[in-house]
Amino acid sequence: MNEQTCIVVGASHAGTTLALQLRREGWTGKILLVSEENELPYHRPPLSKELLAGKKTLDEIRLRPAKLFADNDVELMLNTRVEKLDREAKCVTLSDGSFRHYDKLAICTGATVRTLPSSENFNNVFTIRNASDIEKFRPLAIPGRKVVIVGGGYIGLEAAAVLRNMELEVTVIEAAQRVLERVTSEVMSAYMTQLHASRGVTIVTNTMVSELRGEGSVQTVVCADGSAFEADFVIAGIGVMPNVALCEEAGLATDRGVLVDEYAQTTDANIYAAGDCARHPSALYRRSLLLESVQNATDQSRVAAANICGKVIAYDAVPWFWSDQYEIKLQMVGLSEGFDEIAIRGTTEVDSESGFALFYLKEGVVIAADCVGRPKEFMLAKKLVKEQAIVTAARLADESFEVAALATA
Ligand code: NAP
Repeated sequence: MNEQTCIVVGASHAGTTLALQLRREGWTGKILLVSEENELPYHRPPLSKELLAGKKTLDEIRLRPAKLFADNDVELMLNTRVEKLDREAKCVTLSDGSFRHYDKLAICTGATVRTLPSSENFNNVFTIRNASDIEKFRPLAIPGRKVVIVGGGYIGLEAAAVLRNMELEVTVIEAAQRVLERVTSEVMSAYMTQLHASRGVTIVTNTMVSELRGEGSVQTVVCADGSAFEADFVIAGIGVMPNVALCEEAGLATDRGVLVDEYAQTTDANIYAAGDCARHPSALYRRSLLLESVQNATDQSRVAAANICGKVIAYDAVPWFWSDQYEIKLQMVGLSEGFDEIAIRGTTEVDSESGFALFYLKEGVVIAADCVGRPKEFMLAKKLVKEQAIVTAARLADESFEVAALATA
């Protein structure tokens, strides 16, 4: 073993993958994985799904067994924050006051949830980011209770589906014109709105929550247009902010995320970053991207680990995402922003059992797809997006062409 040390800051999907991948890439020195949470790392997607629904326990969603860290000689330090980064001395200060020297550092600090103004004054306003968040409000999830969910992004809609299944009265209030506006098309937003409405969820769009009203507990959620909604409790799913204070204070280049190149390297050659906190250049989309997804966290951290170990590997994975709401499985690939044509394969009616795929094209090139109950089309779309394939919208929409035939178009 050599005496080099790699410190990985943050132990969620990116940090945990990176630390373990270092060994596979041949890192023989020390590996220290620092986690602010006092929990063995766990998968985050189930928080707003199976964990909230009570279908899985926290121990059933651990990212890796404790033994694996020990077997790979990864020192996992829980309940510890990295408070300060001294790039000149190549040293970090930990929350217990100790200093640790590094040769290579990996920033995998993720993101922090945005909170509603004055929410700290109330005992019944919650967010969903960490496992402990779910434990705080699950006891309130009783049939017939009223929950107001602020934000119609993935967090808001996934929580709405689970809580509605638990027979709560659910209202989702979204500031934008439509749910999921930041991430998908009007067609998909309309489908999701109809899906939730068909299950009894009230979705209110184009409405900004402006005030929480009550004594100690919120009783009424008040909106900028004067409308008001009664609530037994409130969940805010209003987005996240990348955790880059450590990087900014240390003088690393940041721009709504810590800037990395295609090798996941920051503006300091000894410091890498991956996951929700890292903004990287995308050759495919010809712009910088900050992606908040498990796929990005794991793929980018594998690239970072390889490069830390002296390889030269560029990150160019096609982004993909998924969401489970009610019995619906939504799979998305690529980024549809800027599309100029859409192909609808199948029917977007909520009760249809055959599902559908939406293919997004820009100047004739397939740039993204959203698939509901269409795993074959999802696999096809991954290939088409990666290859920047040119296929006409008419052909993609025409179900008389088998999916396999479209792959070779
Ligand atoms: P999000 O995708 O940013 O959606 C939050 C929504 O809340 C936005 O549409 C936002 O509108 C709206 N909003 C903000 N302030 C509001 C207010 N005061 N009143 C009403 N609406 C308001 O974020 P999220 O759903 O909280 O999710 C957090 C992160 O986790 C995201 O990165 C998300 O992609 C990720 N996540 C992903 C999955 C998945 O892939 N299945 C599941 C869960 C979470 P504006 O944009 O206009 O501010």
